[in-house]
Amino acid sequence: MTGNRTPRIGVLGLWHESNSFVPTRTNLEMFEMHAGPGVRDRWTGQHSDLGGFFAGLDDNPVEAVPLFSASATPSGEITSAACEALLDRALTAIGAVPTLDGLLMAAHGAAVCEEHPDADGWWLRQIRAAVGQIPIIATLDAHANVSNDMVDATDALVAYRTNPHLDTFDRGMEAAHLMLRAVAGEVALTQAAVFPPLAINVLLQDTRVEPCASIGMLMDEVRSEPDVLSASFCLGYRFADVVENGASVVVVTDASPQEATEHARRVGSTLMSERERFVARLVGVDEAVSRASSATERVCLLDTGDNIGGGSAGDGTILAKRILESPIESGFVAIYDPTSVAAAASAGVGKSVKLEVGAKTDDLHGSPITTSATVLSLHEGKFFEEAVRHAGLQEFDMGHTAIVACDGLTVQLTSLRVMPFSIGQLTSCGLDPTDFDVIVAKGTNAPIPAYAPYCPTILKVATPGSTRADMENLPYRRRRRPLFPFEPVTDVT
Ligand SMILES: [Zn+2]
Repeated sequence: MTGNRTPRIGVLGLWHESNSFVPTRTNLEMFEMHAGPGVRDRWTGQHSDLGGFFAGLDDNPVEAVPLFSASATPSGEITSAACEALLDRALTAIGAVPTLDGLLMAAHGAAVCEEHPDADGWWLRQIRAAVGQIPIIATLDAHANVSNDMVDATDALVAYRTNPHLDTFDRGMEAAHLMLRAVAGEVALTQAAVFPPLAINVLLQDTRVEPCASIGMLMDEVRSEPDVLSASFCLGYRFADVVENGASVVVVTDASPQEATEHARRVGSTLMSERERFVARLVGVDEAVSRASSATERVCLLDTGDNIGGGSAGDGTILAKRILESPIESGFVAIYDPTSVAAAASAGVGKSVKLEVGAKTDDLHGSPITTSATVLSLHEGKFFEEAVRHAGLQEFDMGHTAIVACDGLTVQLTSLRVMPFSIGQLTSCGLDPTDFDVIVAKGTNAPIPAYAPYCPTILKVATPGSTRADMENLPYRRRRRPLFPFEPVTDVT
């Protein structure tokens, strides 16, 4: 009901992927936050959902109203104080602008607060209460553990379709275009979701290959149905210990609740009838290092147990140690270790320095490597990625960084945890990826677009840790039961 004035669309971003199995907590200081016009300045032109929101709204007869954005590198559960402060800032921003006609929110779907395990649902419910009955459309990571509260509080949820996430901008655009139609009164957004009791192993969450690829094709069929406006298949995030942990399907139609439900159910029952395909075969450390040792072409070893993008510490040493013990002559690994960076910096380039490398954050990722290393170079640690890489990330900050060499292994020591989504991590430090026989990247699927062009063989290694692929060994307390493959599921309708 905007009368003759231009509709105002609020733009909000609040996202975090919270790993319940990380012993440390995520506090407010760990979030990068922007308010008002600062949100537009930060995100316009970027490959992110927020970049897509602005691109989709601009040049249309609406006013984009930037409100607030907050994001942090995946890490442990969010403290209650931070969870409340983030909501408070979002609500304050909403309260400070004239009445909105629609709200676009970049959510994640796998945020966990200490007091509110379904943090996204908790945030969205209160945002709904604040803005009233205007269209709310939220984008979600493909790893969302979708909840009923998230569905009830929004008019449409639009999840990334890809993992590695290369369509973040496109989904932002999709959400913005849906919003334009909704505020124009052209469509009545109506969504339904199903939550099949299936935990898809993280090793099998690459949407470009089977078994996810055929589900992607099924989703395309759903999207081509009359009245379907949007359809999302969420893989779920295994490392959030929440009731919602699992796969989900969300379908948005134009005023047709029955069709939304039927289409979502069809995909949900396909997932359950094919559930055995989502149980992974694990490649252990021994097998992976042995295969890498005898490979004739460059190998990327993905350290899936210390997946920084999944919230892990990023200072695990298990693969580095095994490479040092192996015949591999030239390896590369990045390890988060500000103490060792400082020691290397004070020794100076070209000097030898005694280090205790890595494994300082927790006791889940090996033990420190005691070594005498040669300091090869020192760096400020910032770089920019032009290409579309996982989650649309472009600005990277490793903090002060040292490159050191020990016994055929080149170690990049960083002062900040950095997700390995860009080859700029190496090239910005003067390293040529083709100089190495084996490159370790601390991730599972997300690093692949950056590393595949250099590494003909990519092995996902089932290392232990807070993002371990052998999820039977994760100490879940809250997840629902039954959930396949933890428990057998017989009723698949
Ligand atoms: Zn994700």
